[in-house]
Amino acid sequence: MSDCLFCSIAAGDIEADVVYEDDKVIGFRDINPQAPVHILVIPRQHLASLNELESAADDLPASLFTAVPEIAREAGVVENGYRVVVNNGDDAGQEVEHLHVHILAGRGMGWPPG
Ligand code: 5GP
Ligand code: ZN
Repeated sequence: MSDCLFCSIAAGDIEADVVYEDDKVIGFRDINPQAPVHILVIPRQHLASLNELESAADDLPASLFTAVPEIAREAGVVENGYRVVVNNGDDAGQEVEHLHVHILAGRGMGWPPG
């Protein structure tokens, strides 16, 4: 989608600190990090939210979620742990309407989330 921020990042039209890429998924550092390590993992395909995931190719969920521990390993946070968050919809605080998985790490985190 041409007016989607994360589609533009995936296309390379908007700069981002990319830490992971394959043919279906891209990972890049959040511009406003909420933890020492804060990486966003997105499908290259435009899906507004998890609610559209079933319309994607069958292997997309696996591609998206297997990229997460790979990126975490590369970031050196597997041993201490990391949090994986998807803000899905208004009540959850989703601001960018292109499905993205947050990886947060590098500090202790509370529960429940705010
Ligand atoms: P949401 O609230 O939709 O789950 O998260 C959107 C995330 O995208 C936020 O953490 C925000 O900091 C991040 N973000 C917004 N605009 C940009 C941008 O232009 N570049 C990068 N790298 N991250 C962005
Ligand atoms: Zn998009």
